[in-house]
Amino acid sequence: MPITETAPAGTRCLLALGGNLGRSERLFEWAIQRLESQSVRVVSVSRNFETRAVGEQAGGGFLNAAAVVETQDTALQLLELLQSLEADSGRERVIRWGPRTLDLDLLLFGSLVQWQPRLMLPHPALWHRRFVLSSAVEVAGGMLHPLLGQTVEQLWQRLSEPQLSVTVECAEDVANDGRFAGFLSRPLQLGAVQFLRRVAAASEQSDQHVFARVLLRAATAQNPPWSYPLQYPGLRTIELFVQGPEQALEQLRQTATAITG
Ligand code: AMP
Repeated sequence: MPITETAPAGTRCLLALGGNLGRSERLFEWAIQRLESQSVRVVSVSRNFETRAVGEQAGGGFLNAAAVVETQDTALQLLELLQSLEADSGRERVIRWGPRTLDLDLLLFGSLVQWQPRLMLPHPALWHRRFVLSSAVEVAGGMLHPLLGQTVEQLWQRLSEPQLSVTVECAEDVANDGRFAGFLSRPLQLGAVQFLRRVAAASEQSDQHVFARVLLRAATAQNPPWSYPLQYPGLRTIELFVQGPEQALEQLRQTATAITG
């Protein structure tokens, strides 16, 4: 058998690049160059997409892009590299003014599945964020989401439905909170997304027509609002940690914005 000098390709990964519009374009180029100079082979990079900010505090428009890379490193090593680039992008003052505006997420690391606060794979929000999938589909349409068993292209297609139905369930702590008694007494339509409250969890089988299931839980010190749950919430489930009905409504609004773009 011939001896090959070529190193094995390594693990194929999907990365997301994000940041506030304006400064981000140069930061994206810089980050890709830095990745290439490290242990990472950059296979392809998407165009940059201008997207709507999710949430009022997020600032103006955003820029998003995706990249497919290959690495021999472990997932954690790659995450550490991405985080060092995020930190350096502020420290090195690639741009002379303003705060750090580079956000790098690891969306897929081959078919690796893990749910640890330090590193969750696949990235928990990959399947329902339009601003992530719009660029990801350009470079990684055929990559498989190992939990959902669907390609990035199929996930993207799901977002194109004219009406997206999302059920909202209250965990016991929220259901027992009197402030939530009338919460979503009628379905709530936010753009193309319709949220409707459901009392008990139905089986995943009967959820086939539903785009997503939102589970509301009371926020805690360990799980403040906008954090990811410490346990895997289940297929197509978005767990939201809430402090009261108004804030829950705001989180539903932001979820709808993330879904519809
Ligand atoms: P953010 O600032 O929203 O990008 O969140 C960064 C935090 O999420 C860091 O503490 C990471 O360790 C953690 N994290 C968990 N899973 C991932 C992932 N797949 N990609 C990037 N960061 C992750």
